Amino acid sequence: MLEVISAISTANGTGGVAIIRLSGEGVLDILQKMFHPLSKVDIHNLEPYKLYPGEIDCGEFTDFGMAVYFKAPKSYTGEDMVEIHSHGGVEIQRGVLKQTYKLGAIPATRGEFTKRAFLNGKLSLSSCEGLIDMINGESVAAVKAGYGLYREKLFNKITELQNSLTFALAEIGADIDYPEEDLGELTLDNLVNALNLCISELKTLIQGYDKGEKIKNGVKVAIVGRPNTGKSSLLNALLNYDKAIVSSIEGTTRDVVEGSLEINGVKFDLYDTAGIRSADNEIEKLGIERSQKVLKSADVVIAVFDGSASLTEEDNSIINAVNGLNVITVQNKSDLFKTQKEGLNISAKTGSGVSELKNLLYQKAFNGGIDKNAELIVEERHLKALEKANQNAENALNSVSLGVPLDLVAEDVKAVWDALGEITGTTASEEIIDEIFAKFCVGK
Ligand code: GDP
Repeated sequence: MLEVISAISTANGTGGVAIIRLSGEGVLDILQKMFHPLSKVDIHNLEPYKLYPGEIDCGEFTDFGMAVYFKAPKSYTGEDMVEIHSHGGVEIQRGVLKQTYKLGAIPATRGEFTKRAFLNGKLSLSSCEGLIDMINGESVAAVKAGYGLYREKLFNKITELQNSLTFALAEIGADIDYPEEDLGELTLDNLVNALNLCISELKTLIQGYDKGEKIKNGVKVAIVGRPNTGKSSLLNALLNYDKAIVSSIEGTTRDVVEGSLEINGVKFDLYDTAGIRSADNEIEKLGIERSQKVLKSADVVIAVFDGSASLTEEDNSIINAVNGLNVITVQNKSDLFKTQKEGLNISAKTGSGVSELKNLLYQKAFNGGIDKNAELIVEERHLKALEKANQNAENALNSVSLGVPLDLVAEDVKAVWDALGEITGTTASEEIIDEIFAKFCVGK
């Protein structure tokens, strides 16, 4: 076992209760020197997974709280662990932490508890990433996607694929994992079938990234339209608050104003634009450049027109600018006109049509919707590994059809296996592992 690490695992700042977590060989020796259970039980006889009330001796002061012991290997890290629950004052939690250091613990680095859990085989690498996604998730959908990853949904899928490849490899005399498996009567057809199945599953997973990435990071929505069509008003109507400054003087929205809303649990980030007409003014020019960038990178564009007025030249240039993009055409100020116009007729002022716009935004962003049972890839790292696996699987198939010697085909198949292992962590390099845990906070 490794040295005892210690950290405050609850959020930074004042709260009702704080949790100081320790992991490693000797946690009980440290606890014995600073925690005195009311029941007077000897610390080395603590019943695991049970909260004990008692005095926490921090050297300079004493707090009253609780402690719990998690016995290896049935703990988060797989090592002996202790949690001390103190009162949540900043000075109190620091005092508890300092005392653990004084008694021999060392400060945990970012994500070190989880890294130890991974290294001790408690969690896969993708599960650890799911955990960060869950903790950092800014919408219900992002938290749910993180939870699926954390609970090894992707790991199970990847392991299934790896197992089918292991069989296929064994079939051609190469083995990676279970050489003693009873394989029965097998032919090259089985290898081809396994590879085809693998490719089809990989393609489905790869396609899922488009939706998964939006779930994790939010859908980027640009609002574009000539001045005075009601973009700021619409932004406010969607966000339900007055963030953008609404004014009837043209060109007041110079900057890109951001705000976010949740639709069906997914975060949508809204970007107001300064317009896209040509301008002499330097500041406006900068704003226009920025708007064009926002337009290009947006997942969905809302093009706003003033339905109560006739189209101007500037409106036409906006129609051109959004041509080919994923656009929703909005005819605003429907409270001022009677005849229905082409596009979504809404009034940012009265709120009429705004909920239809939200539905449409969701439909457009997710190409009709999200299949609840689909396994959506949310990490770019996973996407890259899947693409690599797919490429190698295609190579293997190609080699088979060209009659390449089987040991060379086996190399390609093994490369698929390895690429998949990068996702779960079985073949991930130390560099990748360190990069992932650096994203964690201290104490997790
Ligand atoms: P922007 O320049 O496109 O951001 O437009 P604003 O949101 O600043 O709106 C310009 C003017 O149109 C303001 O006077 C708003 O009050 C008005 N306006 C915006 N939306 C509506 C609407 O749906 N109906 C009516 N009657 N006026 C609106």
